[in-house]
Amino acid sequence: MASELWFAFRGDRMLVRDGEEPARLAGNPASLGLDMLFEEEIGVLDGRRCLAAEVEGEEPAGFSFQDLRSLFGGLDERYFVMAGRATQVITWNVMHRFCGRCGSRTERGLETERFSRVCPKCGALYFPRLNPAAIVLVHRADEVLLARSPQFPKGMYSTLAGFVEPGETVEQTVAREVREEVGVEVKNITYFGSQPWPFPNSLMVAFTAEWAGGEVSIEPLEVEDAGWYTVDELPQLPPKISIARAMIDDFARRRGFDPGDFQSSESGSRKG
Ligand SMILES: [Zn+2]
Repeated sequence: MASELWFAFRGDRMLVRDGEEPARLAGNPASLGLDMLFEEEIGVLDGRRCLAAEVEGEEPAGFSFQDLRSLFGGLDERYFVMAGRATQVITWNVMHRFCGRCGSRTERGLETERFSRVCPKCGALYFPRLNPAAIVLVHRADEVLLARSPQFPKGMYSTLAGFVEPGETVEQTVAREVREEVGVEVKNITYFGSQPWPFPNSLMVAFTAEWAGGEVSIEPLEVEDAGWYTVDELPQLPPKISIARAMIDDFARRRGFDPGDFQSSESGSRKG
């Protein structure tokens, strides 16, 4: 069996080898002199076991701890997805060392209930929690509605998104977010796809929707600018790895445009 792949995090930063290759992962963090606080097997890539590790210590020579967002364009997409899985499993573990009901220290749950934690005292069982969010490409004839959040990298515009609230269907979230953020009504909300999104613990559920009425009027706390764009004059877009970009590229292709030349932002950022 080929060597293991370690996704080692100190806080929210991942240990990577200095250099340019698309997969610059560390070897076993313990052999690099780091203290290992937690480790968990999270999957297999190219026949190699993948492990998530929470570590402590100074960065070894030739390595550095880097923000996952800054690795967005530089890591092979499958490695980026696995790194997202690693950070979510680690964060989940950090946040559930103690039972929320009785305060006792929790233990790993059953092998068959992956990533679960159980309280040995009161029996409470905890599973990793995801925060579903809706993301939507709104279109009107040949135009798409794009907006920028104050937290986005400079110059980048994207589709609208927001977290699902208790008691809502994801389609209701779509309609509410679009109404709240830009004052527009939508119809024909259609499922596009989904993407795990580790910033933090989200599952992005993507839709397209048609404009049904209303002029763009932004909610300034969430959106600093928004407008309708034709595919031949798009602003700077999110990186290719994001589902927002997949929707925009798909919209362009359906109108006979090659999205290959669109301008991308270096790092991906989305509120949440
Ligand atoms: Zn308990």
